[in-house]
Amino acid sequence: MEKTIRCDKCCGEIKYKSDIVVVQEGIIGIAAYHEDCYVRISKGIKGFIMSSPLNSARGIFSLVAANIIYIILLFAVLDSDLSGFYILLVLLFAFYADFHYYLGWYHYLRHFK
Ligand SMILES: [Zn+2]
Repeated sequence: MEKTIRCDKCCGEIKYKSDIVVVQEGIIGIAAYHEDCYVRISKGIKGFIMSSPLNSARGIFSLVAANIIYIILLFAVLDSDLSGFYILLVLLFAFYADFHYYLGWYHYLRHFK
């Protein structure tokens, strides 16, 4: 069954994958907008708590770049005499960055062909 994805600003249905913009809002929230609605909203006060689009080339690039940094950091921490707390901290940051991407995919992007 296909799920209807609605824009968080105008409540209209988002019909095409090319028209959806998924962003992180606040600390753990995600939201979906039409491309036009996103432009209007990001110019306003709400733009301060919004991330750049997660489903953009830039979003995917920063996700990959962040993961490479986490893997390097993880090996650096594992190689040193630091305690498990630091390993946990690095993993937590990696999880936090990936979490929004997967959340956006699960709630919105996977419903498009
Ligand atoms: Zn809209």
